[in-house]
Order: sequence, then C-alpha cells, then structure tokens
Amino acid sequence: MQQQKRLSQNRKLNQHYSPMSDFAIAAVSAQLPTPIHTIGVLGGGQLAWMLTKAAPSLGLNLIIQTPHASDSALQESTDLEQQAILAPITDIAATAKLAQYCQVITFENEFVDLEALATLAAEDVCFRPSLASLTPLLDKYEQRTFLAKLGLPVPNFAPLETQHLPASFDFPVVIKARRHGYDGQGTFICHTPKDLAQCWQQANQDPAVLMVEAFVPFARELAVMAARSATGEISLFPVVETYQHDQVCHWAIAPVQLSPTTQAQINRIASQILEHLNFVGIVGIELFQTADDQVWVNEIAPRTHNSGHLTIDACATSQFEQHLRAISGQPLGPTHLTTAGVVMVNLLGFETASDHYLHKRRAIAALPQTSVHWYGKSDARPGRKLGHATMLLSSEDRTMAINMAHKIEALWYEG
Ligand code: ADP
Repeated sequence: MQQQKRLSQNRKLNQHYSPMSDFAIAAVSAQLPTPIHTIGVLGGGQLAWMLTKAAPSLGLNLIIQTPHASDSALQESTDLEQQAILAPITDIAATAKLAQYCQVITFENEFVDLEALATLAAEDVCFRPSLASLTPLLDKYEQRTFLAKLGLPVPNFAPLETQHLPASFDFPVVIKARRHGYDGQGTFICHTPKDLAQCWQQANQDPAVLMVEAFVPFARELAVMAARSATGEISLFPVVETYQHDQVCHWAIAPVQLSPTTQAQINRIASQILEHLNFVGIVGIELFQTADDQVWVNEIAPRTHNSGHLTIDACATSQFEQHLRAISGQPLGPTHLTTAGVVMVNLLGFETASDHYLHKRRAIAALPQTSVHWYGKSDARPGRKLGHATMLLSSEDRTMAINMAHKIEALWYEG
C-alpha cells in the first residue's frame, strides 16, 4: 500500500522533470566545480543507503536513480519526489534528467553502461569518478590487464576462449565472469576439466564472457579502502582482514598486524592505482597475502565496499563520508581507528522468506558495543546481504575478534 503511494508520488515527480535541454546541461556545467550541494547516485542498494546517511553532515543532498521505491536507499526517504528518480540505472534519459538537478553524479555499483553515459559526459555532465577512470575496471579481464601493465602483482590470467585451460595454467584455477559478478556470483573455483566444462556450458560457450586465473594459495585475504580527492590528496583507511566462504564475505576485522614492508607495499599499490586512473572518490582494493608475506591484488571495486563498512562505527571518518568528501571537493577526513579493535559481520540471508528478523537483530544489538545496520530488504534469499553488525573491541587481539564474529554469526544463523 505504502509502496503504491510512493510509486504514484514518483510518477508525479517524473512528470515534473522535463527532458534535458542543451540549455539545462550548459547551466549545470557552468556551476562546476563549486559549490557542490546535490549529488546524483546511480544505484539504490545498501551502499547508496549508507551514502544517504553520511550526506547531511557534509551539507549534501543526494538524489538516487534506481528502479524500485522499495530499494534500501529509499527506505527512510520522506519525500520520494525530491529524493529519487525511479528508473533503471542504464536508463540514460533518466540520468539526463538526474543531471539537471545535480552538480555531480556518482556510482553505487558498476552495472552501468559507460558508452551511453559518455553521451552525457560529452555534454559536460560531471561524473565522479570519471568515466575514463572506470573504463579499465568494469571488465575483470580488462582490470587485470590494467593492473599487470602497472607492474602490480596479479595472478596469471587469460580470457577463457574454449573449454580447455590455456597452456600456462594448471588446476586448480579460478574462473570468473568478466562482467556483472558480485558477492562471489560469477566466481568459480575449478579443480578438474569437468568443473571447467560446466562453467563453459553455463557461459553458453561464449568466448567473451569468462576469464581464467591461477588459484592463489593465500594465508589470508586483506582489503583496504583508499580515497583520492579532486585535488589529488590520497588517504587510506586501516587495512582489514576479510573472510570469505564460498566466495562471499562473512566478516572483516581490524586492525591487522602487518610488517612495515607490507604496509608500505599496500600504500604504494593504492596510490599507484588511484593516481594512474586520476580517480576521484573511493576504491576498495581486495588483496591476497601468502604465508611468505607476498601480497597479490585480487580486485579493485571503484566505489564504497563491504570491507569498509566497519569504518562507520570504528573510524574517525566513514568510507561513505570520505567518498562524498572526495567527489564534492571537500578535504578528506582522518581515517584512523577510534577503537582498539573491531569486527564487522555480514548478516546474510539463509532462507527464502519475507522476514525482518527483528528478534535476531535485537539479540545481536544487545551484545556490548554492537550496532546493527539493517538494509530494509523485505525478501530474504540465501546469501543475500540483509544487513551487517559491527562490534567495537577493547583489544587488538585477532583471536578475540574472530571469536566475536562467530558469536554474532551464531545469534544470526542459529539463534
Ligand atoms: P566478487 O567480485 O564476486 O567479489 P572476487 O573475484 O573478489 O569476486 O572473488 C571472490 C572470492 O573468491 C575472493 O574473495 C577469494 O576468496 C576467492 N578468489 C577469487 N580469486 C581467487 C584466486 N585467484 N585465488 C584464490 N581465491 C580466489
């Protein structure tokens, strides 16, 4: 009922938007680069929701382009008419309308159509990060090629163009969908030719769809959020350790004990990536660390990222605030931990149901120093990210942090 009301409200809203004229576009570009007070966001999931929460303290107003009024980013919206354009994020006419009301457009996810957006960029619509920064990153094979060209440590990789492994590979290998993978969907660990043949069939034997890379026998997975401002200032958040099961992130902890050499290497990797892309905004960089302290780059997410969620409760500035600071031309904020230790646990769907799990959420929120962030999704599915919980800890002890992750998971999955 409420949703129907919202939808009809939004139809009204969309009637108010007139098609974008050349004059309107010129007016928007003339306002650049300052002052930036309204930012358009392509995508309306939980990352956009957490951006909306960070915006008011920076004096910023966000307008979300997303197809559904029920999406997380609009769950607290009091005035849908002012705060949303209900359209798919690949609807370029809708993005042109969005641009009339914003000084900058940013991205919640990477499922965008860069070619179509280029027609707007050519008319001076300001995207941050720029479309040029995103171009080498959206296809996993092209991203690997970009990283390798920079001389950064990446596992051996190649496009998968037949159902047979290219000559330089041995099992096990990791097969990845080049585009549109997320939360491990589209990432498969293959141990045998039969596994590989299955992936090949699933991709309809299309040589443009998959890539193959060497399996990295990592000791642990790390991630770092790093931001670059419009003036080229770079700032890293503390490195976190993440734990994935079946290619899906279950928890992240900080701080991480790193040798000074490894920390310096991670700093260099982040700076090199951001500078070469001339990137404005935040990136999440996923890394593998091997037992002999080698670091490999797994992936760059050109946006806010799950591994940075703990910054909301545990750092001087959150990743969401930092991204908004960067793209709105404000100075970057301090990134240090404001607690001795922290653990973030993803609350993943474990059944197909229509449930808000209030009882479980209350039990987790009752743990000491714990906050639950609930994304307001009305339908649960196995593996779907429904929320996350963050617990602040009084020590840096890794074992304690992992035990706390298990305690939260027990309340969520078994409680
Ligand atoms: P997504 O983009 O869906 O997050 P990723 O490429 O980051 O997918 O892979 C998800 C997880 O799969 C990683 O966090 C890691 O646990 C595992 N993985 C991915 N690539 C490799 C690899 N080359 N070697 C070992 N494990 C890998």
